[in-house]
Amino acid sequence: MNSISASLSSPTFADLGLSAVTLRALADEGYSTPTPIQAKAIPHVLAGRDLFGCAQTGTGKTAAFTLPIIERLLAAPGRAASRRCRVLVLAPTRELAAQIHESVRAYGRHAGTTAAVIYGGVSQRPQADAVARGVDVLVATPGRLLDLVGQRLVDLRSVEFLVLDEADRMLDMGFIHDVRRIVGLLPRDRQTLFFSATLPAEVRELADSMLCDPLEVKTAPQATSAETVAQSVYHVAKQEKKQRLVQLLREEPMSRVIVFTRTKHGADKLHRDLDKAGISAAAIHGNKSQNQRERALAAFKSPRPPVLIATDIAARGIDVDAVSHVVNYELPHEPETYVHRIGRTGRAGQSGTAVSFCDHEERPRLAAIERLIRMRIPAENAPEGVSASAEPQAAYGGRRRSRGGRSDAPRRHERQGGAGRQGAAGRRERSSRSERRSTAHDSASSAPAPAASPAPAAPARPKRSKHRRAL
Ligand code: AMP
Repeated sequence: MNSISASLSSPTFADLGLSAVTLRALADEGYSTPTPIQAKAIPHVLAGRDLFGCAQTGTGKTAAFTLPIIERLLAAPGRAASRRCRVLVLAPTRELAAQIHESVRAYGRHAGTTAAVIYGGVSQRPQADAVARGVDVLVATPGRLLDLVGQRLVDLRSVEFLVLDEADRMLDMGFIHDVRRIVGLLPRDRQTLFFSATLPAEVRELADSMLCDPLEVKTAPQATSAETVAQSVYHVAKQEKKQRLVQLLREEPMSRVIVFTRTKHGADKLHRDLDKAGISAAAIHGNKSQNQRERALAAFKSPRPPVLIATDIAARGIDVDAVSHVVNYELPHEPETYVHRIGRTGRAGQSGTAVSFCDHEERPRLAAIERLIRMRIPAENAPEGVSASAEPQAAYGGRRRSRGGRSDAPRRHERQGGAGRQGAAGRRERSSRSERRSTAHDSASSAPAPAASPAPAAPARPKRSKHRRAL
C-alpha cells in the first residue's frame, strides 16, 4: 500500500477507542487524524500494554502516550494522595517537561485531569505546593524530582504509569543513574511507556530493564518531505488562481510538474483552462478510463511532459522520480495529504519544489498543514487584510507550541535560456529545517527558567523574492 492510500484508510481518533471527553479536547486542538504513532500506539496502551516507541519529537508522540493514559485514569477513577501522583512522565529538559505539561493539560481539559510540572533552575516551592495535594500527572526532569523526593515533598509509591521520554537524551545528558534511581522508587506493578529517537545499545538495555513484553512502535518523522522539498505559498483570491497558475507555469522553469486539485470536476476545468492558455496539460482522476490514465502517465514520463493535473486518489498510481514541481492549486482538507502531495517531488535524493495557492477560505487548512509539518511555509506575498510588515500568523494555531520555524525560503529558480516553462529544473535554494529542539537545560541548571507554558518561538519571517512578488 503506498502512502496516499495509507492516509485514505487511516483510522479516526474515535476508531482508536478514545472517549467523548478526549475527542472533544482533540477537536479543540484542531487535530482531525491520528499521526502514525498515535494510530499504532493508542489502542495498545489503552489495553494496558507496555510500549517501546522509537520516535522523534514532531511525530505526535506526546499525544500518543498522554491520550490513552488519560483514558485509563478515567476508567479507574481515584485521587492521588497528598504528595503523590498516578502518572509520572520523565523528560530530560525543562523545556520538554513544560511542553508535555502543557499538552497534558490541553488533552485532559475536559477529563478533569490534574497535572503538575517539576524542573530545576527555579524555586522549588511552587512546584512542591502544586504536588502537595496530589495530582494525576506529574511531569518532571530527573534531578529536581530526586531533590524533592529526598526532601519528602514528593512520594512516588503510587505511580501506576511511567513514561520515559527522550531516553537517548537522558543518557547523553548523564541522567541515566538518576533515572534508574527513580525507577527503583516506583511500584513494580505499573504500565511503562518508553520513548527514544535513537536506539544505542544502552537505551535498549535500559528499556529491557524497565519494560514487560512491550509493543514496539517505530515511526519515521512524519513530515520527511518537508525537509527535502522547497516550499512556498501564494495567498491568492479563488478567482485569480487560474491566471496565477498560467503565469507561474510560463515564467518558472519546471521540467515536470503535477498540479493538484481537490475534485475531478476541478481537474477537468483546469485542464480546459490550460488548454485555452496554450499550455500542454493532461488530467488524471477517477472518471478517466484506464487507457486515458495510462496515456497521460506515459506522456508525463516522456522528455517533454505536459503539466499533469491530478486529484489525490488518482495520484496514487504516479511513480515518477523526476518531478521537479508540485503545485497545490487547492489545499487539501487533510494536512497529511499535503505531505503526500509534496512527497511526489524531491524524490530519490533530487531537489523538488512545492508551490501552494491559498485563498481566504483555505487559510485554516494552511494553518493545519503548518502545524503538522511543524514549520511555517514561506509566503511569497502577504495574505489579504494583513499588512506586509505584520508578522505572519502563528503557524501553530494560537495556543500550540512551536519549536522553531524555517529561517529562509526557497525562492529563486535559475532560468534556462529560452527554455520557458518546460525548461530544465532550476537550481533551488533549499532551506534547512530549523533545529526543533530547544537547547538542552539540565534540570539543575541555574539559568533563568521559562514560564510553565513557554510562548512559541517566533519563526523567522521569510524573505520574498522580487520576481515572485510581481505575481
Ligand atoms: P509531539 O511530537 O508530541 O511534540 O507533537 C508535534 C506537534 O504535532 C505538536 O505541535 C502537536 O500539537 C501536533 N500534533 C500532535 N498530534 C497531532 C495530530 N493528530 N494532528 C495534528 N497535529 C498534531
